[in-house]
Amino acid sequence: MEQNLLLGEFQKYALDAEGDAELISRAYKLALRAHEGQRRKSGEPYVTHSIAVALQLIKWRMDAATIAGGLLHDVAEDTRYTIEQIRKEFGGEVALLVEGVTKLGALKYTETSGKAENLRRLMLAVSRDMRVIFIKLADRLHNMKTLSHLPEVSQKRISLETSEIYSPLAYQLGMQGVSGELEDLAFPYLHKEKYDWLVKHVSKTYGEREKYLEKVREVLAAALAKQNLRPVSVESRAKRYSSLYKKLIRYDMDIAQIYDLVAVRVIVNNIEECYAVLGVIHQLWPPMPGRIKDYIALPKPNGYRSLHTTVFCINKKPTEFQIRTVAMHEESENGIAAHWAYQLGKRGKAYKKRRVVSAGEKETAWVARLRSWDKEYASSEEFVQALKIDFLGDRIYVLTPKGTVLDLPAGATPVDFAYSIHTDVGHSCVGARVNGKIVPLTHQLQSGDLVEILTQKNKKPSDSWLLFVKTDRAKKKIRALFKKSRESSSLRAAPKSAELKITVRGRIGLLEDISSVISRSHINILSVSMPQSTPFHTTRIVIATADRYKIEKLLMKLKEIRGVKEIGFRLL
Ligand code: MN
Repeated sequence: MEQNLLLGEFQKYALDAEGDAELISRAYKLALRAHEGQRRKSGEPYVTHSIAVALQLIKWRMDAATIAGGLLHDVAEDTRYTIEQIRKEFGGEVALLVEGVTKLGALKYTETSGKAENLRRLMLAVSRDMRVIFIKLADRLHNMKTLSHLPEVSQKRISLETSEIYSPLAYQLGMQGVSGELEDLAFPYLHKEKYDWLVKHVSKTYGEREKYLEKVREVLAAALAKQNLRPVSVESRAKRYSSLYKKLIRYDMDIAQIYDLVAVRVIVNNIEECYAVLGVIHQLWPPMPGRIKDYIALPKPNGYRSLHTTVFCINKKPTEFQIRTVAMHEESENGIAAHWAYQLGKRGKAYKKRRVVSAGEKETAWVARLRSWDKEYASSEEFVQALKIDFLGDRIYVLTPKGTVLDLPAGATPVDFAYSIHTDVGHSCVGARVNGKIVPLTHQLQSGDLVEILTQKNKKPSDSWLLFVKTDRAKKKIRALFKKSRESSSLRAAPKSAELKITVRGRIGLLEDISSVISRSHINILSVSMPQSTPFHTTRIVIATADRYKIEKLLMKLKEIRGVKEIGFRLL
């Protein structure tokens, strides 16, 4: 049933898509074929999931490649079709998107693997192409909506992951609509009792609230009309349960204290009208001090723009108003996705007809947004965090076979990876498999790579590794090992001193002359033995070098000294 509904909606779009329709309908056909016979836990054919994801992407007005990617996003993971086949049939762009989503799916969020922050950064890094994240978010949204069919353990795990990773990620991308929806979907699974309590208490007053809001809308509409202001829409909305809950904790679970249990949203055509509407509202009802927020003049770091005010409304009941333009509203719901669409719309004719975002335009809009953030948030940590999304180039995030995320500098090799696991793994490393393929040790790892190190007992590192390793840790460990092995071998064999045998005709000051020549050659004297009795005798001097070249040069100089008759040496 649902499948037919979805399909109808989906085909309506596909037919409308002209040149892109072909790509999308081919992707649809492959998804059908690939998932044939597979069912979801709900009992529905698996492909309903692929279609739901594609529809969400259509709603966000993504381009054809992304929609095709959405249709095929589970094909490489769950069916006999490979990324290679997708590349052959749909080209590199679609294949890259599917590959990215597949990689993200391989990340397991567990207590042990999981610093949430690390994983979130990894996801961003893997998805240098933001469209991968859009597909993943659409995927997660549909999975959360159909979560009731899974066993309880999975519900808990997936909800926790959604609440700790995907919802904040969506928020960071300015997609608060998606972020809030994910949070709300996860909430009942994570806090069942609190959710039930909240629903009960909120629903008790539901009818009353509806009547009240209707009156507020009427009064406001009349006042606005007098000023010739005609908003695009005035709507009231119930606060999300999850954010209500967060507020309730702050107010000791006192529902009477929550002002924005309801909020009225006024959507207008342009910024001037936003401020005009705010003025009208404040003339009607006195604002509550400290509750006027101008996020238009000063947007939130994630790009959110709107005017907020809480006023003592009809019967002095505190009521929140949010005022924004159509574009701001769309951005606040869909974030970057909407921003891309809007930017393109200002230029393209195609947009007006189909309202689609194309891949080529995305960079401009994203960069433009970054620039506008930069102006206001150059010093803020949040901006830096946002900036990292696109400029993660200096770090890569790679995975161990157990799913642990390692953070390495760009250009890092399997050897760096091995040393960052353990010194012994580094020392005994003989090869590596990256994403299942054997690679040379000089291979440069990419974010999202799954790296497996092949080791061999008693294997020693090569000093040529120093030429390509990137991390200080690896360099230090390799050098330390070589230093140690040089020292231990020198104890056994290599000479480090020599004995000079000098036959002299003794005179006063001869020994001083000899030792000063040796010193000026920067060689230390270790010992001197000299029988004093006869004018002709042999002096033996042990010096702290075994360098033949150095010694020979020294001998030449010593021969010049008056009284030196014969000279020779042997290494000790
Ligand atoms: Mn999926």
